Amino acid sequence: MLLSTAAWPAVEAYLTRSKGIVIPIGSHEQHGPNGLIGTDAICPEVIAQEAAKQAGFMVGPTFNVGQAQHHLGFPGTISLRPSTMIAALQDWIASLTRHGFTRIYFLNGHGGNIATIQAAFSEAYAPYSLRGEPAPFVCVQKNWWELKGVAEACKRFFPVGDGAHATASEVSVTFYRYPEAATAPAMSPTIAPNGPIRDAADYRLRFPDGRIGSNPLQARADIGAELVAVARVALIEEAAAFFAED
Ligand SMILES: [Zn+2]
Repeated sequence: MLLSTAAWPAVEAYLTRSKGIVIPIGSHEQHGPNGLIGTDAICPEVIAQEAAKQAGFMVGPTFNVGQAQHHLGFPGTISLRPSTMIAALQDWIASLTRHGFTRIYFLNGHGGNIATIQAAFSEAYAPYSLRGEPAPFVCVQKNWWELKGVAEACKRFFPVGDGAHATASEVSVTFYRYPEAATAPAMSPTIAPNGPIRDAADYRLRFPDGRIGSNPLQARADIGAELVAVARVALIEEAAAFFAED
């Protein structure tokens, strides 16, 4: 069930049988010459929505703008400051728990979000922890590429040049979801350089076309479909176990 396309009585009925919800969370940031700006939001969204279709759990709207400061040297990137993102996540969590969702599973699509999501969880728990009371809800975060079997599948499909940013794997997932957006512009060098991630100006100098360590010209929609299938199975299993916790 998708929260965005459900009416409130259906949500109320869902809450009588489950307290769990999956929130895809990502970013809007450059992903190299052929990667879509929304890649990190699209990947967890398609996995969560396909899993929900099969398993019947609730999926919330995608929190689709995150920590992308280091990508601001490229047009199209939108970033939240850490303090803004923490505040927004707290309000999402408080709204959901207000209505009885007590198991909130964030399926993340962007490595740059990890620290801020964890900080938001700490802020959400803080009032309870400081009062010595148990928090009446639990939040977890999982990166989609860390779901069971996904890393192995990425390695099998892309033994060379999957990379660290604008990866062949994530671009494949977006081409599966939006095949009409698939393009293959020239890229040089074939495999992008690796290096440290610092501020936006430094990033653009080190990684002029936006990629890190990747050759996304290997991306294919049919491989994206296979990656989503592996991730979907793992998410269904993980979400079911998490939602069933006491
Ligand atoms: Zn990405």
